[in-house]
Amino acid sequence: MDLTQIKTLYGAHILPTYGRQEVCFVRGEGSYLFDSAGRRYLDFSSGLGVNSVGHAHPDWVKAVAGQAGTLVHTSNLYYTEPGGLLAQKLCELSGLDALFFSNSGAEANEGLIKAARKYSEDTYGPGRHTVVTLNRSFHGRTHTTLAATGQDAFHQYFQPLTPGFVHVDAGDIDALKALGNDICAVLLEAVQGEGGVYPLERDYVQAVAALCAERDWLLFFDEVQTGIGRCGPWFGYQTLGAEPDGVSFAKGVAGGFPLGGFILGQKLRGVFTPGLHGSTFGGNPLACAAGLATLEILSGVISDVERKGRLLRDGLEAIGGKVRGTRGRGLMIGIIVDGDPKAYMQTLLGHGLVCLTAGADAVRLLPPLTVSDAEIREGLAILREVLS
Ligand SMILES: *Cc1c(COP(=O)(O)O)cnc(C)c1O
Repeated sequence: MDLTQIKTLYGAHILPTYGRQEVCFVRGEGSYLFDSAGRRYLDFSSGLGVNSVGHAHPDWVKAVAGQAGTLVHTSNLYYTEPGGLLAQKLCELSGLDALFFSNSGAEANEGLIKAARKYSEDTYGPGRHTVVTLNRSFHGRTHTTLAATGQDAFHQYFQPLTPGFVHVDAGDIDALKALGNDICAVLLEAVQGEGGVYPLERDYVQAVAALCAERDWLLFFDEVQTGIGRCGPWFGYQTLGAEPDGVSFAKGVAGGFPLGGFILGQKLRGVFTPGLHGSTFGGNPLACAAGLATLEILSGVISDVERKGRLLRDGLEAIGGKVRGTRGRGLMIGIIVDGDPKAYMQTLLGHGLVCLTAGADAVRLLPPLTVSDAEIREGLAILREVLS
């Protein structure tokens, strides 16, 4: 089928919730994508931070194909080995205690919010249920995670949203201190991704952590985009010297297979008992085999993420022209541009580079964490062509 025929099918049968680019990808290999006309693109989007090990990595393909031919799904009424092994690994990497597997980032954040409310009700009784998030944050598209998302544009049309959320400005510790006695948790992104690739300041996060400790508010990080090596270490909060009570993860964890979850620390170890939470697909053996293969591949490249991010940002900052600067951490990069980031994204696609936008002023780059120095230089050449 060619692009026109495929577009006709989408137009007729898929709800138009996305603004799609004029391209149909048919194949991927490493850091490259190929479209229905046979054209090659360098992929600096990783499918929104998901293809952390690039496309069709041979070890990933082998693990997933092997598991697909062995055991795909059993439901969570039974034990399977990949689930146990992946949970052990993620707890080890986060320094937290025990996790729950979901399928997506929004579902992972829902779990954190449920954990916070249950802990608070167990400890203090009902009424202390409000979760604080930041303005410009993004936490997902379900009704509850929309309420958590600190951007008014997302709240339109879908009222009433889940009650029990307040939003404060990043960096404003006094706004947080002024909140009342109904707070149970604070949920942060180490780098605000969708909101524009704004990293949180270390001092601010330390002050939030101290306040949380003082008032017994739970400190959570939404690591759906920042986690699993994207910012350099395995989790974004590890760049901030924070010790959270819980974190969510999803996007990059299984290299393209839908998988998410949340990990809780010792303090929340007892909040969930059988029957209080669940997910039919969550953590099935196929997803967990994909996760195990992804973490294994990443363990060989993660120590290089910070250096590669620096290489890319140094190259970007040397462009001048329409580039006013960069924001981000590791391989999560916002290029602050003069002009409309969406227009640049489209032009870059035309030049063979797949990228994203974030917030009002940024072209966003989320290359595979396996990207090579040569591919970074190739991407920089295209960016220079369009942005200088
Ligand atoms: C993408 C994202 C989500 C939502 O994840 P889904 O898998 O789309 O539900 C939540 N939080 C952050 C920080 C994200 O970047």
